[in-house]
Amino acid sequence: MNAPETTLRKDSLYLAETHEVINVARDLVDYNLYEQDAALKEAVRREGADWAEAELSAFGARIGTAEYLELGVLANRVPPELDTHDRFGNRIDLVRFHPAYHTLMKTAIEQGLHSSPWTEPRVGAHVARAAGIYLHSQVEAGHQCPVTMTFAAVPTLRTTPQLAALWEPRITARVYDPRNVPDTQKKGLTIGMAMTEKQGGSDVRANTTRAYPVGLAQGPGEAYELVGHKFFVSAPMCDAFLALAQAPGGLSCFLLPRWRPDGSKNPLQVLRLKRKMGNVSNASSETELRGALAWMVGEEGRGVRTIIEMVAMTRFDCMVGSSAGQRAAVAQALHHCSMRSAFGKLLNQQPLMRNVLADLVLETEGSLALTMRIARALDARAADEHEELLVRLVTAVGKYWICKRTPQHAYESMECIGGSGVMEDSPFPRLFRESPVNAIWEGSGNVQCLDVLRAMQKMPATVDAFFAELAKAKGANAALDRYVAALRGEFADLADLEYRARDVVDRMALAIQAALLVQHAPAMIADAFCASRLEAAGHHNYGALPRGVDCEGIIARATPRA
Ligand SMILES: Cc1cc2nc3c(=O)[nH]c(=O)nc-3n(C[C@H](O)[C@H](O)[C@H](O)COP(=O)(O)OP(=O)(O)OC[C@H]3O[C@@H](n4cnc5c(N)ncnc54)[C@H](O)[C@@H]3O)c2cc1C
Repeated sequence: MNAPETTLRKDSLYLAETHEVINVARDLVDYNLYEQDAALKEAVRREGADWAEAELSAFGARIGTAEYLELGVLANRVPPELDTHDRFGNRIDLVRFHPAYHTLMKTAIEQGLHSSPWTEPRVGAHVARAAGIYLHSQVEAGHQCPVTMTFAAVPTLRTTPQLAALWEPRITARVYDPRNVPDTQKKGLTIGMAMTEKQGGSDVRANTTRAYPVGLAQGPGEAYELVGHKFFVSAPMCDAFLALAQAPGGLSCFLLPRWRPDGSKNPLQVLRLKRKMGNVSNASSETELRGALAWMVGEEGRGVRTIIEMVAMTRFDCMVGSSAGQRAAVAQALHHCSMRSAFGKLLNQQPLMRNVLADLVLETEGSLALTMRIARALDARAADEHEELLVRLVTAVGKYWICKRTPQHAYESMECIGGSGVMEDSPFPRLFRESPVNAIWEGSGNVQCLDVLRAMQKMPATVDAFFAELAKAKGANAALDRYVAALRGEFADLADLEYRARDVVDRMALAIQAALLVQHAPAMIADAFCASRLEAAGHHNYGALPRGVDCEGIIARATPRA
């Protein structure tokens, strides 16, 4: 039986346009990430890297194109895959990445983000590099992990000059070579880190991986074979890893190559890749060491002391990375709210949304100011004890505070977009999933707070240096003066300090961020930061700024213009 014929009316609406797409934002692309970031430009000049401005500006333009920003999307949409064996059954431990990941790595390494302060040390070298990382992480955060570890490995490696002489030139070279071949065939190398085991990550003294001397000679630079497992090894395609293992004389640090010098595969076997909720572009693996050759780095039994040089630098990069994550999130929120109207006004004109946006911007201003101040301290530490003491104490403060503030900041920025912010084709799922990672790895929150206490106890001069740094802002803001005086009181009472450590470190972070902003940021930023962070009672959500804040000015300063 035939279906009844449908006769279209002359004025049928069949295939009529249903609506016009209006009142929506467009992608935030084709803008200069450096030039559109007033706070970053000011920090770069202030902290001694004005000489790098032209290069940073060119870099900001290059990585802000729609085409380049898309690399970040692609590198995360297609996660890395592990092939343990080739089709003939040979063990290969090969991780395959999307080509976009390799492009990001190549850019980072050719830009010197893994090495410039080591190869070209000068005033502002760490500041310029931190600015570069801050920009590139906004495109994609996952690839920063191997870039950071490669950079951070150098001070640890230098404790053993015979190894450094062989490896450092190729680690610091601006050559990215992702081939799965022995390091002897490469001009540029990447380095990873293998500390964490199943039974202990924060407490690496619990490591059970054993190191057996290969020959009669033992100690720094000598060969050992490692047997054990490592539960977290990120970027397993790195050419070598700094690893901890129990030598006869106690926990020691080793340089563990993926290939042996004779060109055979070192038995560092990748069992599987972790299934991570964020940081997807970056492979993280579980591995086994089955007699893997490695050379001792630093003194036997001083493994934690030796690798801590590396960990200190990776913790600094966590500050940079989370500051970048905050900037990426707020830039999206500001951009969106400058184009979307509700109830007859652009969102960034609505008083309550202004409060939220300005508050989110204040967070990023504080994070960046503290991060770049520590970058300057890294540049100056060799010649200036005050700077060295700041690095020791305040890196832990900043790593704890900035990384921990980022998830809530990412979520609140997402909410500024509304429902579309939750969708997988918006940038926010990636930003949100990335946001807790820096807080957890490289020493989780409590571990950072305990490290602050350890620094204060072992080196009381760090506390003096900290308050000397705060004193530079004395008299500029009455709320800050009161806050610092109260904070000083905390140190007079040492009872229960471990129990109270988060509260104390929270306050140290806010005090130093405020002191930096009071000295260097426009008054509208510094005043609002102090009024909202130092004087407000109790915990509050973003968007609870007090009366009298110049929200409009704060928003205008931070809004990127595509
Ligand atoms: C994505 C990702 C990649 C990683 N890549 C690597 C890598 O490449 N190489 C590597 O070596 N590791 C890597 N890690 C491991 C990471 O460094 C550890 O997970 C981290 O150090 C915490 O160790 P844990 O997981 O064993 O937790 P635990 O040490 O068990 O800690 C659990 C919780 O207890 C808290 N805690 C610990 N001690 C105390 C204390 N005394 N007082 C109060 N609280 C305490 C910690 O702060 C934490 O919140 C990676 C982790 C992640 C998430």
